[in-house]
Amino acid sequence: MSSTAREMNLDIKKIIVDEKACDDPVSLRVRRSLPRVPVEMVPSARELILQEPARKNSLILMRRRGEFVKDFPVTPGAPPASERYLLTMLNCPFACTYCYLQSYLQHRRLVIFTDMDKMKEGIAHSLSRERAARYTTGEMGDSLALDHITGTTAELLPLFKDTGSLLEVRTKSSRIDHLLDIDTADLLVTLTLAPESAVLAEERLTASLDQRMETIKKLSHARVRMGIRFDPIVPYYAGANQYDILVERVIEATGGRPPYRFELGILRFPPGLWEQVAGSRPRSPLLRGEYIRDNEGKIRLYRPERIRLYKKILSSIHSRFPGFPVELSMEHHSVWEDSGCKVPFSPPRS
Ligand code: SF4
Repeated sequence: MSSTAREMNLDIKKIIVDEKACDDPVSLRVRRSLPRVPVEMVPSARELILQEPARKNSLILMRRRGEFVKDFPVTPGAPPASERYLLTMLNCPFACTYCYLQSYLQHRRLVIFTDMDKMKEGIAHSLSRERAARYTTGEMGDSLALDHITGTTAELLPLFKDTGSLLEVRTKSSRIDHLLDIDTADLLVTLTLAPESAVLAEERLTASLDQRMETIKKLSHARVRMGIRFDPIVPYYAGANQYDILVERVIEATGGRPPYRFELGILRFPPGLWEQVAGSRPRSPLLRGEYIRDNEGKIRLYRPERIRLYKKILSSIHSRFPGFPVELSMEHHSVWEDSGCKVPFSPPRS
């Protein structure tokens, strides 16, 4: 089965600009990129969000009060990951059915933060104090869904020069052309992939699998450092040889070159998400399988089943790229060991 091209054009019906953010370069860039979209100025976008939490199809441009650089929440017993995330935006124009932002954020507003100088200061400070790490813009939304109109990646990338750290964009978008003309030596573009049936059913508005493979081809051709993420792996869509096919397609797209990194993560439900999915789609394929609540309050697939799935996918990867180090997302080191992944530190023996 071959998917048709289907990454949707942005459906933004209104741009709401906080008065303080009105002349910020990001605000001007976004408004220039969407000249036909009506603009509304408001005295306080923050208050608007609190009063009307769910107006869809509007894009809010505002400054941020808090920090821009954040540490990921630590999964107990997981190997240290050396990664941080950058809060360049809140929410996502895509609509994946399993997206944790549905239960994590109190509102459905799509927000772009515009105070780049403060953001850059925070990043430069973190880069100067910490050991080399990956800084991703893809934790609170898809990194590239709006990047072609915000210019965020091109603006932040020079900060990483000669630091040993990388700026990581994580994406299910195919909008990468604007990155092919800049110096990408300190950039990592991570494509999130899933079997075609999962992309079609659960990753609404995103780039099709064909488009993502085309994107991998372009990045590989341009020698841009690339990561591949199978996360979330939804058990319902992981049957038979689905991930064999996916790995095969990656190899075809890269011309046989291994990516910079591979990461796997099985679908998990942070507090509130299971109930949300079950409430809106009680027969959703996301809910199929033996799930239990863990000590952190997350609902996860039964451990032996997770290990079985990880082993199976790992063997697909290793049959093409023998011994390639594969990382697991948010898993205890014992799950890494039992799945056959190399743990990047010496875990305490019990
Ligand atoms: S691309 Fe990521 S952030 Fe956007 S809806 Fe999908 S899971 Fe959520």
